[in-house]
Amino acid sequence: MEKFIKIKDTDEKFRVNNIYCIGKNYLEHIKEFKNQEIPTEPVVFCKPNSSVITPDIGIKIPDFNGNKISGNLQNETEIVIAIGKDGHKISRENSFDYIKGIAIGLDMTLRDIQSKAKEKGLPWVISKGFYTSSPISEIIPFNKISNPDNLSFNLKVNGEVRQKGNTSDMMFKIDFIISYLSEIFYLSEGDLIFTGTPEGISKMNEGDKLEVTLLDENSSELISFKTFIV
Ligand code: MG
Repeated sequence: MEKFIKIKDTDEKFRVNNIYCIGKNYLEHIKEFKNQEIPTEPVVFCKPNSSVITPDIGIKIPDFNGNKISGNLQNETEIVIAIGKDGHKISRENSFDYIKGIAIGLDMTLRDIQSKAKEKGLPWVISKGFYTSSPISEIIPFNKISNPDNLSFNLKVNGEVRQKGNTSDMMFKIDFIISYLSEIFYLSEGDLIFTGTPEGISKMNEGDKLEVTLLDENSSELISFKTFIV
């Protein structure tokens, strides 16, 4: 499936290729789970690119045989890196040359399904990769980002702040994530990297209205979007 994301204030569109995600990248989020170890290397998983939606579509728990497959849909608000060119074995110091831009997105998670998968050592792809699980903003061109390691972001649910984060709190920083992934994979133009969520995950309900905002280091808004739970 071809998926495109608009690049803000341009006519350019970004064609989404692979989607890599980093789990457990903010200490305070790890503490939201019982018995969670602090990772010494990034936790990496993938989502299909079909999970990406424009926010106006809304987020929906899939049905199977007429029943919702999950009773616990949760929010994970994350900075998303858009990769602008192919690269393998990229050094940390060159990593920013590979960034097309930065977006803000949601790594929506069916937490009950993910918890069962964790217990049994099974893949997370259903809990993380279902259709509509990745609403994402337009991409801010990277030359408009003054300091990628000091971006703040928040999620409001029905008008109240539910999640707040800043990239300075990431355990694995953006340059390290790009370098690390590029050692193992061959990063490609069009890849997206979700960089992990801060604390503040919670159960979403049908009809909830979500508003996600990305701010630069001077707290000026770079972009925001609204979406909802179907
Ligand atoms: Mg996540």
